[in-house]
Amino acid sequence: MLYDLVIIGGGPAGVSAGIYAARQKLNILLIAKTSGGQMARKAVDIENYPGFEKISGLDLIQKFEKHLRKNKIDIERDKVKDVKKTSSGFVVATGAGQRFETKAVLIASGADPRPLEVPGEKEFIGKGVSYCTACDGPLFSDKVVAVAGGGNAGFEAAIVLAQYAKKISILEFNSEIKADQENIELVKKSGKISIITNAALKEIKGRNFVDAIIYEDRKSKKIITLPVEGVFVEIGSIPATKFVKDLVEFNKRDEIVVDPKTNMTKTPGLFAAGDVTDIKHKQIVVAAGQGCQAALSIYEYLRHQS
Ligand SMILES: Cc1cc2nc3c(=O)[nH]c(=O)nc-3n(C[C@H](O)[C@H](O)[C@H](O)COP(=O)(O)OP(=O)(O)OC[C@H]3O[C@@H](n4cnc5c(N)ncnc54)[C@H](O)[C@@H]3O)c2cc1C
Repeated sequence: MLYDLVIIGGGPAGVSAGIYAARQKLNILLIAKTSGGQMARKAVDIENYPGFEKISGLDLIQKFEKHLRKNKIDIERDKVKDVKKTSSGFVVATGAGQRFETKAVLIASGADPRPLEVPGEKEFIGKGVSYCTACDGPLFSDKVVAVAGGGNAGFEAAIVLAQYAKKISILEFNSEIKADQENIELVKKSGKISIITNAALKEIKGRNFVDAIIYEDRKSKKIITLPVEGVFVEIGSIPATKFVKDLVEFNKRDEIVVDPKTNMTKTPGLFAAGDVTDIKHKQIVVAAGQGCQAALSIYEYLRHQS
């Protein structure tokens, strides 16, 4: 079967594109490796999506998905491994070994959490190392944990963890924290959270599960062992683009460069939208808007092809 459009990603950009493309009667497949993307990982409420004064990321993306499923669209839970150009369009290959032929592709694969890349990190994923406070926070009830990263994401993670954990340390590499005042106030109020600046995390240690982290105090150069039972990594994100290397142009941050009016990449028929692109502002409403713009541009592109 030849699809008109394969959408890679089930976050706000992919879902919004799916809704718009379905209304143009395109024959669509949406492939997403997880449900919800970054919104499902978001620990605290979203307060800036129009129409919802306050809503959890998970609830909002579930509403997106429910709306998407009202339309005629095929959905696959799988990881895209490769996108290849062919004479009739593209072939999209997945981790489960499926191959889908399509006239156009929209990459809406967003961003993955940036890893620390220290010894012990990979080994202890699921055994004390987590990238998702919203998913794993409750597992750390009455435990001592660390959050790597002193920006808003790290502070928000610590605020949520304070509902469960006994004690939380936020480790920030720089000498100053970068979180908003509101988050700083909430952290101070919790009484359970301490902030360690100038901390370069060196290693995560344990036997079967994490039992400590080792960091260097960048000022005194002392190596310090901090006993913890969990480490939440909140040091930013990296665009999820491994499957599409040579068909697109990347900027310095490894984001896909798109035409701002159409969302087309350098390869005709290959489009990208949302956080995976070089758009400046990474927000839900922006990603959803980009998904809409891309879907309408894809419809025009396909009309000119036939
Ligand atoms: C901690 C945190 C807090 C945030 N708070 C807010 C906020 O309050 N308000 C706001 O507007 N924005 C917020 N954001 C930003 C917002 O979440 C993003 O801008 C938005 O989710 C981007 O949407 P997207 O669809 O481009 O990508 P994503 O949400 O990242 O979705 C990407 C999708 O692609 C899928 N995918 C990735 N790779 C593959 C692959 N190889 N194969 C198949 N599928 C794949 C993923 O599974 C996912 O379904 C926050 C982000 C974080 C991390």
